[in-house]
Amino acid sequence: MPSIVPFNDLHAQYLSIQGEIDAAVANTIRNSAFIRGPEVDAFERNFAAAIGVKHCVSCANGTDALFIAYRALGLQPGDEVITSAHSWIATSEAITQAGGTAVFADTDPATFTIDPADVARKITPRTKGIVPVHLYGQPADLAALQALATKHGLWLVEDCAQAHLAHFAGKTVGTFGAIGTVSFYPGKNLGAMGDAGCLGTNDDRLAAFAAKFARHGGLRKGDHEIEGINSRLDGLQAAILNAKLPHLERWTRARQALAQAYDQRLAGVGDLVLPAVAAGRNHVYHLYVIRTGQRDALRDHLAARGIQTQVNYPTALPFLPAYRRLGHAPADFPQAHRDQAQVLSLPLFPEMTPAQIDLVVEQIKVFFSGQMTR
Ligand SMILES: *Cc1c(COP(=O)(O)O)cnc(C)c1O
Repeated sequence: MPSIVPFNDLHAQYLSIQGEIDAAVANTIRNSAFIRGPEVDAFERNFAAAIGVKHCVSCANGTDALFIAYRALGLQPGDEVITSAHSWIATSEAITQAGGTAVFADTDPATFTIDPADVARKITPRTKGIVPVHLYGQPADLAALQALATKHGLWLVEDCAQAHLAHFAGKTVGTFGAIGTVSFYPGKNLGAMGDAGCLGTNDDRLAAFAAKFARHGGLRKGDHEIEGINSRLDGLQAAILNAKLPHLERWTRARQALAQAYDQRLAGVGDLVLPAVAAGRNHVYHLYVIRTGQRDALRDHLAARGIQTQVNYPTALPFLPAYRRLGHAPADFPQAHRDQAQVLSLPLFPEMTPAQIDLVVEQIKVFFSGQMTR
């Protein structure tokens, strides 16, 4: 059956600012500014200002941003980096690619973000850093994680791929750790029309290394101080991101209003556990993720009625074939293991209409009607 409520609608967003996007793209083509160029420089300045960091270094995607961050922090073979059991694989994959060892910590029961108490248990003499993920758009417990990092002399890298403009205790995420990494994958809260990413830092030395490393180890053609990689934000993506960035605050407020509507209208329905936002944390709802013991049946019910949902993610990182070598069992990460069977991401995008929200809410209620409510 054709989808009547898509999970996301990137075309609706394009249509809402079509003139601005088309002009930005045409201008870049007219100037042939495809690699680096004024749009890339402008975006680095604009995004640094938007989150409140001194330097923004653009790169090809959010996974590269993590890889570049780990390399900038001098990760060496044998170094351990603690990250969340519940994330997209990019977070941990880049640790391995940079030569380190990924060590997983479980999440806290309410927020899906890394549990500082479990991080503390995982710290060894080989631990070099902690990588919280602001999952689904909610900041991790940055106060507790910063205290742990300071106490043990560790660095903090924030994976902000899902949390553009989210804040913790009034300060924007990405500004707490040594480095914050960002993805502009098309479906993210600020999305390009292709791959794009960046990292932010207040540290001059880290920014200089990252910029150099991402551009073949040298900022001037032919001047390679080190061996680096080729990871560039291209001019067309930068132009599109510059056109979209001024709308990000408005889109974020729209996401928050839609989440509030779901919160109000789904409260007490079936066995649903709605997203909990911890005190002092500002959630930007990259995803609106509910939990239910009947996840797969609910998902099928909605799909049969043209309502698209997603599971983010069906298998927690330690249980993926890619990490079989670590030999983890469900009991090692009880929260992440519980959540992989129960999480369901509902449609949520800034252009979503009241009629679309009505349909989702109505069909969830139909699914649970006749069943025992709590
Ligand atoms: C999207 C995402 C990334 C990677 O970003 P890409 O731009 O797709 O490489 C990293 N971490 C998390 C948590 C993400 O959601």
